[in-house]
Amino acid sequence: ATRLRAFSGPTIFTEMTLLAQRTGAANLGQGFPDGDGPPAMLAAARAAIDGGMNQYPPANGLAVLRAAIAERRRADHGVAYDPEREVVVTAGATEAIAAALIGLCDPGDEVIVFDPLYDSYAACLAMAGATAVPVPLEFDGTRFTFDPDRLRAAVGPRTRLVLLNSPHNPTGTVFDRAELAHVAGVCRDHDLVAVTDEVYEYLTYDGVTHVPLAGLPGMRERTLTISSAGKTFSATGWKVGWACGPAPLVEAVRTVKQFLTFGTGTPLQAGVAHALTHCADWVGELRDSLQRRRDLLVKGLTAAGARTYPAQGTYFVQLDSRSFGFADGVEFCRALPHDAGVVAIPSVALYADKEAGRHLVRFAFCKSEELLTTAVDRLGRYA
Ligand code: PMP
Ligand code: GLN
Repeated sequence: ATRLRAFSGPTIFTEMTLLAQRTGAANLGQGFPDGDGPPAMLAAARAAIDGGMNQYPPANGLAVLRAAIAERRRADHGVAYDPEREVVVTAGATEAIAAALIGLCDPGDEVIVFDPLYDSYAACLAMAGATAVPVPLEFDGTRFTFDPDRLRAAVGPRTRLVLLNSPHNPTGTVFDRAELAHVAGVCRDHDLVAVTDEVYEYLTYDGVTHVPLAGLPGMRERTLTISSAGKTFSATGWKVGWACGPAPLVEAVRTVKQFLTFGTGTPLQAGVAHALTHCADWVGELRDSLQRRRDLLVKGLTAAGARTYPAQGTYFVQLDSRSFGFADGVEFCRALPHDAGVVAIPSVALYADKEAGRHLVRFAFCKSEELLTTAVDRLGRYA
């Protein structure tokens, strides 16, 4: 279709992973861990397969998983949901985002996004016939954040919803209570829905904690919260995600997803239900280990002469390609696999404003210490 022409061809993540495979470069591009999730989760999925859980799940997800999701939102974030009517399981957060945008937007509606934005947002908005209205995230000397006045100014008569990702890919910002209060204020004042992508909710560092927008005053009734098992349990290939929110918003997601996939990965849903209930310690260790690996990468990049930006959460750290003599991050990422044996992602691929993101490059640190050490050694020799 004409409206999807801009999205044809492989995504930047596919392109860079293929490049890493072709060149044998250390792949710090696509954000997937190179270790497995909790053994008990893997065992629970295997047991579900052996136990005959191999047919369609209910369209809204296994009851045991919906209950486990609701319990985590309540116990970890203090927001309660009815697992019957206010939780729906999806094929990863990706399907939840797609179903939410298609299910909530009419053609011509405007959706406020923060720029840079995860690649699927723009594609799904195009599928929905809606228009993205970007609010820039800019480096304020400490981290990437937005100007509240620009957020307010982005609201117009056709604004349907605000789409917010926190912890944020690729900047690593974890929005704090004050920033979220600005978002909440705009949503309340203009009667807007908020859709939040919280897939990195448990991956925050240095004592920073994730605050869900739905927990702010007046926001539970207008927020659809999306997350997934992929990052929390190092199982990005399982594609088990979910959306929680007031029944009408969840119903909008269910309406669409029942015709996109109907349901997904029955035994994997059983595995994730087990992990959400029993694997909190494992997630705590993952968080500590990711923080150490972030530090290893940042130290190595800094030693190689790079200007890096701090990451409070996620799998990613950004750097300025100009520290390596490249004004353009795409050129840097094209040269890097051959010249240094390392693959990274040009952040501009996630930017609406191509000028703003031109010099930014994203490195993933959700990789083994060996791979990270190899990468920083190579970059040190290259610099
Ligand atoms: N949102 C963000 C911000 C992501 O970085 C990713 C992917 N890694 C996703 C959504 C997709 O999540 P899932 O793999 O659960 O579909
Ligand atoms: N979210 C992952 C990243 O940002 C990529 C997932 C994908 O390839 N679709 O690197």
